[in-house]
Amino acid sequence: MDIYQGKSVFGGIAIGKVCVYHKEEQQVKRTRVDDVDGEIARFHQAKDVAADQLGKLYDKAVKEVGEASAAIFEVHQMMLEDLDYVESIENIIKTQSVNAEFAVAETSGNFQTIFASMDDEYMRGRAADVKDVSERLLSILHGNHQDALHATEPVIIAADDLAPSETVQLDKEKVLAFVTLHGSTNSHTAILAKTMNIPALIGTDMPLDEVEGKMAVVDGYEGRIYVEPDEETLAQKKAKLEEDVEKRNLLQILKGRENVTIDGQKIMLYANIGDLKDLGMVMQNDAGGIGLFRSEFIYLDKETFPTEEEQFKVYKTVAETMAGKRVIIRTLDIGADKQADYFNLGKEDNPAMGYRAIRICLTQPEIFKTQLRAIFRASAYGKVAIMYPMITSVEEVLQIKKIVEEVKDELRYQKIAFGEVEQGIMIETPAAAMISDLLAKEVDFFSIGTNDLTQYTLAIDRQNEKLDDFYNPHHKAVLRLIAKVVENSHKEGIWTGICGELGADPELTKLFLAMGVDELSVSPGRILGLRKIILETDMSQCREEMLKKYL
Ligand code: PEP
Ligand code: MG
Repeated sequence: MDIYQGKSVFGGIAIGKVCVYHKEEQQVKRTRVDDVDGEIARFHQAKDVAADQLGKLYDKAVKEVGEASAAIFEVHQMMLEDLDYVESIENIIKTQSVNAEFAVAETSGNFQTIFASMDDEYMRGRAADVKDVSERLLSILHGNHQDALHATEPVIIAADDLAPSETVQLDKEKVLAFVTLHGSTNSHTAILAKTMNIPALIGTDMPLDEVEGKMAVVDGYEGRIYVEPDEETLAQKKAKLEEDVEKRNLLQILKGRENVTIDGQKIMLYANIGDLKDLGMVMQNDAGGIGLFRSEFIYLDKETFPTEEEQFKVYKTVAETMAGKRVIIRTLDIGADKQADYFNLGKEDNPAMGYRAIRICLTQPEIFKTQLRAIFRASAYGKVAIMYPMITSVEEVLQIKKIVEEVKDELRYQKIAFGEVEQGIMIETPAAAMISDLLAKEVDFFSIGTNDLTQYTLAIDRQNEKLDDFYNPHHKAVLRLIAKVVENSHKEGIWTGICGELGADPELTKLFLAMGVDELSVSPGRILGLRKIILETDMSQCREEMLKKYL
């Protein structure tokens, strides 16, 4: 058995034979042409065929993976129409009297060099798109009008790298997983793989020339591929695969269903995420939106402050991938258990009650504004909402609103687009819960962070394992605070969700429905279990009983 490690783009287990995908090498010869106009016309014909192929690929991708992920093919279509690109090709044909293939290859090389040398990571990534579009053109010019990647039996596709257009052509019925030696986690290919729900590894060091046709297991949870696995490994992975299949069967039944009780009460089921890697699970589990994007993970991943541009790209990707579903980005919640050296927060005796979250943002507005700008910019690409952590007073909310207005004014002045952004707060402190009637007048929604609300209400450090026996997540003090917050929000006509761990507690789902909680935001893997409970519940039979039992 040989084991190769890679970076996992999407979880899941696949067991099958490896099929190594070799790209057709496009051999481009430089030949002299006399009929320059005819050659330019030939290039334009190829361009039309390419545009047609991309249009079809776009339609296929929209159906299979959604509009946001299909957008890559629109990008490619735009690149095909890009004047600089087209004129460069025409110009090379004209001035050097050469064949269209050579002019395309030459232009492609030049553009790739330019993109690859840019400072901006996103633009560097576009070099791959130029290459992809140009290879399509070359293939057409070479007389290959077919556009498919055929596999005859279900296989694990192994490749040096896969272009987005190649990934989307993979016939899901025939492809169990893909494993590449190159590619970046932020590439469109990776995003597409996630939305296609295919286990995928990138950056492995697997020797492609040694694995063709061999039996293998791809473990997307561990980021490993086991080539010719031993019996024990195979048995283990088969068991995990069966578990996954069972879950998927549940998904098949529940996917697309509304979260509605027998007597017609509806609730939103959203997902909590920490980074882009979680988006695949969000799709797979049919979340209605993102109820908590813990944005601090962007900061924790870095050696220094993430730039506006870096953050913008992450938020934009989430907004686009969710394609119009609500995405609630929680602003920086650093401090306490989440430390990054470059913040220089210093040692505190009581960090959980110390300098953290909104307190850092309000005292260092330059850090806050950078994040707000990035979020507002991303709001032009989807339904983005913001929420602020660790609120204790109305004054804090007013201060935040002032800063937000400054940011919006700046963006307007710079003519940078942004959308309608709902603004909410997290209810994580007893103070916020107690004045939720006043806070409700200032914001669009509440999201109750029960992890911290429990910690502060019960005076139990959530990090201290010695206190586990004292920790009662069903403590009436916490549950009554939740009920009060929901009631106060409804009086002001705003909605309330729960995004702490308690929201996923199946024992409390009926209670939350009885309280009138509007949304539960939980780890993606918990959504379908909760949907099942909701669908099987008749609140008219248990509302009073629940309230009496728990409150
Ligand atoms: C919470 O406190 O419940 C919450 C969702 O925030 P975090 O766990 O990130 O502190
Ligand atoms: Mg919290």
